[in-house]
Amino acid sequence: MTAHDVIVVGGGPGGSTAAWRLARAGLRVLVLDAAVFPRVKICAGWVTAEALRDLEITAEKYPLTIKPFDACVIEFDGGRHETAWRGPASYGIIRREFDHYLLERAAATGADVRWGIRVTGVEAGPESVAVLTGRGRFEAPIVIGAGGHHCPVAKALGDVSEREEVVAALLGIRVGSHYLMVRISNAGEKWSNCSPGRLIIERTMAALHKDGVRKFDFSVVNYAYKRRFGVAHIQLVDILAALSWRGWPYVLRDRAARELRRHPRLAAYARRMLGRPPRRDEN
Ligand SMILES: Cc1cc2nc3c(=O)[nH]c(=O)nc-3n(C[C@H](O)[C@H](O)[C@H](O)COP(=O)(O)OP(=O)(O)OC[C@H]3O[C@@H](n4cnc5c(N)ncnc54)[C@H](O)[C@@H]3O)c2cc1C
Repeated sequence: MTAHDVIVVGGGPGGSTAAWRLARAGLRVLVLDAAVFPRVKICAGWVTAEALRDLEITAEKYPLTIKPFDACVIEFDGGRHETAWRGPASYGIIRREFDHYLLERAAATGADVRWGIRVTGVEAGPESVAVLTGRGRFEAPIVIGAGGHHCPVAKALGDVSEREEVVAALLGIRVGSHYLMVRISNAGEKWSNCSPGRLIIERTMAALHKDGVRKFDFSVVNYAYKRRFGVAHIQLVDILAALSWRGWPYVLRDRAARELRRHPRLAAYARRMLGRPPRRDEN
């Protein structure tokens, strides 16, 4: 018999909540996380009211930083648009605090939470799954992969593949017949060659066009799939500045990429040197 019923790899909100629920149901749960909590997690820190409800957290009783958000004012192209909700649509939290709080809650419910332990491998056997770490091998009949973007469980036991669905979302602002694209988000690195960005823009444009939108603005953020879209060029204000020496490699890479874009033949040569496939317009 194994010492744990379930091993959860990753103690972010996904892992800690799974562990909390399973421990509450009486299962012996082990949570392993590479980081030492409280840890920094880069995030805008917005949590919706629905997410809080799912987590069974009441804003008024949450003991750490939490700020409700119930109105949004956007000034765009000379117009002003205000959206106000009857109650808080979202809350601002600090992930360092929030994630630690959720993980401590799981531990208080009986989950065996161990941080500072990096999972280096996962091996599925007929009866159980072995989780390999620098501090030994752990086994349980069930392993939950909650290691975020580079989850070792997903890597070992199957990532998003060509046979699975791409999950993508396009966030934008619509004012009358005008649509401003703000941000795109998609899962599944192996799909990058088929450009989910372009696919979701096409689908969104078709749906919005049916609904009366006639002007689409893609000027926020300079991505390759937007340039390949054949849109009319407008001058972008695209500023990347280093706040410390650590940022300089990114700034220099950005400047080099911009310079290359002005010289298509040199850009094609650089892509070949880096072993990247040629862009469609280079063929
Ligand atoms: C810039 C940015 C802004 C965002 N803003 C928002 C927002 O405003 N609102 C929102 O809802 N979402 C936002 N998100 C998305 C949000 O951060 C993620 O959806 C969320 O963190 C996913 O939670 P998770 O528990 O699945 O994974 P994570 O929070 O990523 O946690 C994964 C955990 O697994 C651990 N781990 C990873 N690899 C290993 C390993 N090998 N061994 C052991 N442990 C490991 C990590 O240390 C980490 O603690 C943002 C994301 C980014 C990048």
